[in-house]
Amino acid sequence: MGAEEGEPKKRGGKSGGKSAERGKKKDAEKKRDHVLTRAVVIPSARLSWRKFNALKELEKKYRELRRRHPDLPSHYVYTAAQDAATRVKSFMALKREGKAKTEKPEIRRISIWLDDRLWKPEGYTAIRVSTHRGRITIPLWPTKQFWKHLNGGWRLKSQPRLKLDEKRRAVYVYFVFEKVVEERPAKGIIAVDLNENNVAVKAGGRVYILETGIRNITVGYHSRREVMQSLKGNRYTSRALKRNELNKKSDIRRKAANFVVREAERLGAAIAVENLPKEAPKNMISRVDDPVLRDRIYKAGFRSMLRKIIRKARERGIPVVKVNPRRTSSTCPRCGGGLARGSAPRLLRCPHCGREWGRDVAAVINIERRALEEGRVPPGPMPDDPMPEVAWLPMGAWARRKSLGAISQELSAMTA
Ligand SMILES: [Zn+2]
Repeated sequence: MGAEEGEPKKRGGKSGGKSAERGKKKDAEKKRDHVLTRAVVIPSARLSWRKFNALKELEKKYRELRRRHPDLPSHYVYTAAQDAATRVKSFMALKREGKAKTEKPEIRRISIWLDDRLWKPEGYTAIRVSTHRGRITIPLWPTKQFWKHLNGGWRLKSQPRLKLDEKRRAVYVYFVFEKVVEERPAKGIIAVDLNENNVAVKAGGRVYILETGIRNITVGYHSRREVMQSLKGNRYTSRALKRNELNKKSDIRRKAANFVVREAERLGAAIAVENLPKEAPKNMISRVDDPVLRDRIYKAGFRSMLRKIIRKARERGIPVVKVNPRRTSSTCPRCGGGLARGSAPRLLRCPHCGREWGRDVAAVINIERRALEEGRVPPGPMPDDPMPEVAWLPMGAWARRKSLGAISQELSAMTA
């Protein structure tokens, strides 16, 4: 079972006192803590009918609570009310954005929230839950994720949730872990730009284009699936293909995210990324012709990769600077003019200063500049040369190497 991310809350630094200095030093020296939360899901062992039925009844009662069912331990009322409030809140938010599918909030899958007085851990491999049929011990199968959080300085927050699994006659327990991580000061910036088919990274005077091939994977599976769907009775294979495709992509994204974060850690740098809108960047894929395919690429995920990078960075106390994504890939990094179409598909030309840019190179330089302008990171050696060396790295090359430092050395050796 995976861990999912809770929205990290920012907590202002421990900057007590010096109000006179305030405003002057602004963000540059403000320390930030991040309260990180992660949900980890653990399956229980198969339960006896007695236990499972008790939980099932409990779930049913819990559901009926909204109609004021009286004969339940009183704390369930409290947690059920909380649960209902959360659902209503998120429904109202959806409705405001015009995205709600129904007129009233609907409860499709229900989970039982346990408050402190309703459950007790028994070591780390079982929990005890109070029900209307007395206390029930639920043996658990802790996952690797669970131990990793427990041993990695995360604190278990109270209030796990229970979800019933009829088929397995078992439950899933959702635990929430919490950790406060203090951001360390950054010495410089690594700028990162996510593209359909590569990740552009600018570190120091060099731009590295890490090829990911995600677009090719999407296109390949898309056409294979079309063939499959034209044949009969291939639903299973088609689904298997889909799973395969998603696994492959998420594996690459994870590797690329790890690479970036490792590099930032090695250099003691902050990470600069575009602050992508919630609804993913349509302009990034506007040039793909097939609308179905476009939609799939679009959903597939810049955001998921961005989330991965931010999440890993926060865990390690690496500052993340999110910059305004407006026109990052269509502004000339040298003179600030608007770029026009260049002599090749991904090339852009500046009509003002005459310089030609790779689209991804221009974007990542602009991202770096905007991040420096925010002033949270001391500029260090300012990139006065706006035309950095560009190294294009095929998947096999960057995924194998440990760091850009090693790659840099190899490149220097090659050009020397
Ligand atoms: Zn220019």
